[in-house]
Amino acid sequence: MNTINRTLQVISIQHELSMNIGLGLQLDKMLDHFMQRAQRRLSLYSINVIYDLDKSANHSSAYLSFPNKKNVQKNWLLTKAQTLFEQHPTNFTEIKTDSYYYYFFIIPEFGVLVLERKHQAIDLMILHALQPLLTKLSISCQACIEHQNLKTEIEARKQAEQQLIQQSLLDPLTGLANRKMFIIKLTETITNTLNNGKFGAVFFIDLDRFKVINDSLGHNIGDQVLKFVGQRFLKFADDNNTIARMGGDEFVLLANNLSNDKDIAKAKATAIAEKLSTQIAKPIYIGENTLSVSISTGISLIPLENPQVQSIEQQVNLIIRNADIAMYSIKHANRNGFNFFNKNLQSLSEQHTQVEKHLKLAIERHELEVNYQPLVDKTGQIFGAEALLRWNNKILGQVSPVQFIPVAEESGLIIEIGKWVLVEACKLHNQLHAENPDTKFKYISVNVSPRQFNQASFVQDVINILEKFNIQGQHIRIEITEGVAMDNIELAIHKIRALREFGIECMLDDFGSGYSSLSYLNKLPLKTIKIDRSFVSNIDSSEYHQVIIHAVQEICRYSQLECIAEGVETQTEFDYLATQGFNAYQGYYFHKPMPVKAFLHSLLL
Ligand code: C2E
Ligand code: CA
Ligand code: CA
Repeated sequence: MNTINRTLQVISIQHELSMNIGLGLQLDKMLDHFMQRAQRRLSLYSINVIYDLDKSANHSSAYLSFPNKKNVQKNWLLTKAQTLFEQHPTNFTEIKTDSYYYYFFIIPEFGVLVLERKHQAIDLMILHALQPLLTKLSISCQACIEHQNLKTEIEARKQAEQQLIQQSLLDPLTGLANRKMFIIKLTETITNTLNNGKFGAVFFIDLDRFKVINDSLGHNIGDQVLKFVGQRFLKFADDNNTIARMGGDEFVLLANNLSNDKDIAKAKATAIAEKLSTQIAKPIYIGENTLSVSISTGISLIPLENPQVQSIEQQVNLIIRNADIAMYSIKHANRNGFNFFNKNLQSLSEQHTQVEKHLKLAIERHELEVNYQPLVDKTGQIFGAEALLRWNNKILGQVSPVQFIPVAEESGLIIEIGKWVLVEACKLHNQLHAENPDTKFKYISVNVSPRQFNQASFVQDVINILEKFNIQGQHIRIEITEGVAMDNIELAIHKIRALREFGIECMLDDFGSGYSSLSYLNKLPLKTIKIDRSFVSNIDSSEYHQVIIHAVQEICRYSQLECIAEGVETQTEFDYLATQGFNAYQGYYFHKPMPVKAFLHSLLL
C-alpha cells in the first residue's frame, strides 16, 4: 500500500470512527457503536473499554467488551489497564502475548481502551492517528457520564417530590405543610417536651372575614390571598417552628422549645402571636386590589396539664382542639386578636357542642317558638312588634337566643331557622289583620343575622316568602346589625335598596354597641335606628349616656331616620327619653316579649 493510500485509509478510519463518538448520550450504547466499527475497520479480535478505575472507592471497574464474549484474559486486562491508567503514559502501550497483540490507549480522566488483534500488529501510522480520536472519545464519555448523573439526580429529586405528594404532606396551594405533616411534627414535639421539659405551643390561626373576600372578589383572588398569607407565615418557619395550612383559611403554627418555665413560655408565645398579627396586617396588593387581612389566633400550650391520662394521639387531637376553641373565643369577641386556651373556654365549647346537637332537630320537633315584643309610641299605643325566638328543649330546658343564635349562625342552621321565623311572622301578620281589620298596627320586625343577610339569595328568599303569604313589603321590616354592613358595605347597600324597592325597610339594631361608625350610618339607606339597650339603662344617672342619646337623636333628625329606644325598663327612663322628643319605644316598661296568643290579646287592650 503506497503512502497516499495509507493516508487515505487512515483518514477514512478516523472519519468513520469519529462519526460514532458523541452519538447518543447513553455511554454504553455510544461505546458499543464505536467499538463495533473500530473492530471492523481495524480487523480486531476484540475491543474493550475499562473505566471507573478508582481504586480507593473499593469497587470493581466497569468493563465493556466487543464482541461481547467471555474474555479469558479479562483479569489480566483489568490489572494491566489499572496500572497503566495510574501511570497514564501519553502514548499507547503495545503488549504482545503468544499470537495476540494488545494496544492500551489511556483515555484521560476516563479509562483505558484496549484493542486486541490476532496474528498481525496494527499499522503504526494508524495507531498514532487514533490518539486524537481518543481524546475526542474521552470528552464524549465525560459528557455522557455527566448527563447520566444529572438525569439520575433529576429523577431522584422528582421521585422525592413525588413521594412527598404521594404521602400528601404538602398543601398544594400554599406549599406549606398540610394537616398530616403537622400532626407528625406535633407528635414529635409532644414526645420531646415530655422528655426535655421544654414547653411548646400550637397557634390556631383563622383569617377574619375571609369569606367576604372570597364572595365579593372571587375564589381566584381568595386563593392568591391565601398564598400571600402563607408566604408571610413562612417567615416564622425555622428549625423550631412548623407552619401548616389546615384547610380553608385556617393555619397552624407549631412552636417548639419555648422555655422550661411556663410563664416565660407563655410570654414568648404572646410575642409570637403579636408578631403574627402585625405581619399579616400589612396590606396585600393583588392586581388593583389592596386588601387588609386580620387574624384571630388561639393558643394551646404543650404539653397538656395532665398528659399522662391520654395517649399521644389523643393529646394531639386535644391540643389542636383547645387552640381551636381559644381561637373561636376571639371570633366571638369581635375578632382580630389572640387568646390562650383555659378551662372556662372548655366548658363553653362543650355547651356549644350540646346546643348545636339539639338545635339541629329543634324545628322538626317544634321546639322553637316566636314571641313578639310590642313597639309603642309615646302614648303607649302599639304600632309594631319585634319577632324574638324562643327555644325550649327537653334536655337543655329554656335556652336563651343569646346562647343559641351564635351557634345557629356558626353552624349555618340560622338560614333555615331565619326563614322559619319570617314565615311565622307572616302568618301572625295575616292572622292579626284578619282578626282586626281596622288595626293601626304597622309592621313586624324580624332579626336577620350576618350569615343570613350575606347569603346571595337572601333578598329573593324574603320576597318569595312575602309573596307566598300575599303580604305587602311595608308590613315586614328587617333588623340588621352594624356588623352586617361592616363586612361589605357596597353589597349591604345594594341589598337594602333591593328590599326597599319591594317596600321592605331595614332597621339598624343595637346601634352603639358594635363598631359605632357614623360614616357607615350615613351610607346605608336605612329607615330606622334602634338605640342599644346599654345607652338607655340608667339614662337618668349617666351623663355620658345622655350625651350619646342626644347625639343619636340629632343625627336621626338630620338624616330623617326614625329612632327607637330599646330596653326601656322604668318610668324614669321613659320620662327622660320623652322629654328628648323620642316617639318610639320598646322595653319591659311597656311589654315583655309574649307568645302569639298573649300578644294578640294585648293588641285589643
Ligand atoms: P335584640 O334584637 O337586641 O332583641 C332585643 C332583646 O332585648 C330581646 O332579648 C328582648 O327580650 C330584650 N329586651 C327587650 N326589652 C328589654 C328590657 O326592657 N330590658 C331588658 N333587659 N331586655 C329587654 P332576647 O329575646 O333574649 O333576644 C336576644 C337577642 O337574640 C336579640 O337581641 C337578637 O339579637 C337575637 N335574636 C332573637 N331572635 C332572633 C331571630 O329570630 N333571629 C336572629 N338572627 N336573632 C334573634
Ligand atoms: Ca333586634
Ligand atoms: Ca336590639
